[in-house]
Amino acid sequence: MTEIKKDTINSNETVAALLLALAIENRAKVAAELEGRIDGLTKIHNRKFYDESISREVARINRGRERNPEKNDLCVAMIDIDHFKKFNDTYGHKTGDVVLKKVAQILKEESREADIVARYGGEEFVIIMPNTDIEGGEDAIKRLVKAVEKKTQEAHDRDPDTYKPVKISAGVARFGQDGVSKKGDDITLEDEESLQDAADQALYQAKEGGRNQGRAYKIKIPEAPEVGPEPDEVAVATEQLDEKLEAEAALREQIAKLFPDPEDRMIFYQRGMEKTEDNVAGKTG
Ligand code: GH3
Ligand code: MG
Ligand code: MG
Repeated sequence: MTEIKKDTINSNETVAALLLALAIENRAKVAAELEGRIDGLTKIHNRKFYDESISREVARINRGRERNPEKNDLCVAMIDIDHFKKFNDTYGHKTGDVVLKKVAQILKEESREADIVARYGGEEFVIIMPNTDIEGGEDAIKRLVKAVEKKTQEAHDRDPDTYKPVKISAGVARFGQDGVSKKGDDITLEDEESLQDAADQALYQAKEGGRNQGRAYKIKIPEAPEVGPEPDEVAVATEQLDEKLEAEAALREQIAKLFPDPEDRMIFYQRGMEKTEDNVAGKTG
């Protein structure tokens, strides 16, 4: 065994050793702090970290806007795995957990360094996207939707026993957008709650729209009552003529029932004609 003698350690080594010890201590501190902010299953950030981060980002952007009112590029995206209940029912919760971890990993890999990706709860994820306008946010979630479909399929192809492919739906909203509150009031998305709520509504629209897709938040414009084209004169005249022809056909049918013999029917029609002619002559004469 080699013995380390005090005098063989030069001052540089001592400094290096001290720095290393400090780094280890620091890491432990940071780890302790992060504990409680990391999701146990997926090892990405958890809801608590998201809540703290979104408050910080919204406060930051509000401060920035005092100097530059145009500066409001911040998006929040909500993501939800499609039909995950059925997935668990089919493959079991254990496989469900493996896939949840895989999805979290893909979302992290495919997001930008500055984005904060967190597990919101259950099979739902949330991403804070700083310095991102709505077009950027929409592009990002559409890319994530495609990536999850592709990468979980690839994992499944490599290891069919462990992984099963899944799809996700996503919605995104931008800070400062015009919106509508849950109560139906016109609002501006200027706080974390309304921003997240709008992202949720966009996610809902993605689900309604058939899942496996990403949608950007848009105010729902109330549907206008359907106004048909003005009925033109020709159409009115045609309709009146149709009605007249229909009435005549019904009358002929009735007469045919009353006089099944064609000759009797002819006599009836002739008498009718004579009566009409008499009437016309009487009126004009
Ligand atoms: P939708 O497409 O509308 O989102 O349908 P869904 O089935 O995904 O949604 P629903 O909210 O009905 O079900 C969510 C499921 O996610 C229910 C639950 O079993 C599953 N889930 C939530 N957390 C976990 C988890 O930690 N592990 C596993 N394996 N499953 C989870
Ligand atoms: Mg859900
Ligand atoms: Mg779901």
